[in-house]
Amino acid sequence: MVNGGDLDHADPLKHFRSRFVIEDPDLIYLDGNSLGRMPKAAAERAREVVSQQWGEGLVRSWSEWYEMPERIGAKIATLIGAQADEVIVADSTTVNLYKLVLAALQARKGRTDVVTDDLNFPSDVYAIESALGLTSPPAPSPPAHEASPQARGNKLRIARSTDQITISEKDLAPLLTDRTALFTTSHVSFKSAFMYDMERITALAQEKGSLVLWDLSHAVGAVPINLNKCNVDLAIGCTYKYLNGGPGSPAFLYVRKDLQQDLQSPIWGWFSQANPFAFDLIYKAVPNVRKFLVGTPPIVSLALIEPGVDMVIEAGIERLREKSVAQTEYLIELWEEHLKPFGISLKSPRDASQRGSHISFGHLDALRIDKALIEEMKVIPDFRSPDNIRFGVTPLYTTFQELEEAVQRFKRVMKDKIYEKYSAEAPVVT
Ligand SMILES: *Cc1c(COP(=O)(O)O)cnc(C)c1O
Repeated sequence: MVNGGDLDHADPLKHFRSRFVIEDPDLIYLDGNSLGRMPKAAAERAREVVSQQWGEGLVRSWSEWYEMPERIGAKIATLIGAQADEVIVADSTTVNLYKLVLAALQARKGRTDVVTDDLNFPSDVYAIESALGLTSPPAPSPPAHEASPQARGNKLRIARSTDQITISEKDLAPLLTDRTALFTTSHVSFKSAFMYDMERITALAQEKGSLVLWDLSHAVGAVPINLNKCNVDLAIGCTYKYLNGGPGSPAFLYVRKDLQQDLQSPIWGWFSQANPFAFDLIYKAVPNVRKFLVGTPPIVSLALIEPGVDMVIEAGIERLREKSVAQTEYLIELWEEHLKPFGISLKSPRDASQRGSHISFGHLDALRIDKALIEEMKVIPDFRSPDNIRFGVTPLYTTFQELEEAVQRFKRVMKDKIYEKYSAEAPVVT
């Protein structure tokens, strides 16, 4: 097996690691797919926004802040194959989904279904269900002789994955019909890292007249995305994972240019009013993507997204993907040799073209193993119920040597059964 240090030596992106805050070099952080590390430039930006813009500039700084949602949105657009005026930073991913689901249902009046699948992020499913509940009060119980109670009211339809790792067109196609208003799922699945064929699945749903919305949370900053080329209607995504925007940093949303005129945000607020400072009681939506803003954005958090996004742009998404694939392949090789013999299974696709930037391992004692890795081994992966341990690879700062060492420490936990002393009780946050 190739030595991790040699691979690092040859890595053209190795210098980016020194631009992150790394307090303890012995701590192996493999959870950048949940919360990215802190760019050093973010501390600088925080000082600027808090001390100068807020402290000194006070309300005058609004001239700087007002257009930040579209200015940073335009930078994110370059990472997802969108036009600058198709992306805006706003709210959280879940809230953006809620807004866009309602907008889609309104744009596809007469169609009842929203289709997703069971690899999607549960919060997305909750948001869809609550949006559907709002547009469609529960149908009264139909008389027993009525054949199809599902024919009334809006309905969430969930395609099932047979192996809980991948999902195929065959699994999705039967649910996509002329009743489908919207198809939505995650481009990269949060648990297995399965990556959908965006272009094909988008076309499959659009052939039925459905709108298509992709959640890019586990994809943006990790894999190349081309929303325009795939003719995607709508998208949302998170900035605190591979974009390293910081805890709770606001999310983004994309609405394809030709849909912006017709789609309506379900929440009207002054930040989407065409002329908010006229303080007119009549609402008139701005005729562009800004119409999906609601109220005052969290300016400090919003500003801190930019250093992380800039670094991803500078490194180049193609180069990041190349390194990410090399690193996840390396991790699979290491797993095969050192972890598989201990009954650890691989819960991610083997084919790199179907995989995002993390690897999931499976074991019935995954939670206890996760605790042992964190408490005693200075390895930080995360646990996803019921039996997954995720190793997130962030090519901007993850080294090959870290992956090699993390697997060695993982092996020690298995060999010496270190995990057995930990309880199987889940903490509040995993
Ligand atoms: C992380 C993640 C989210 C996060 O949603 P928030 O509303 O920002 O908490 C949503 N969807 C997916 C697929 C995610 O991976």
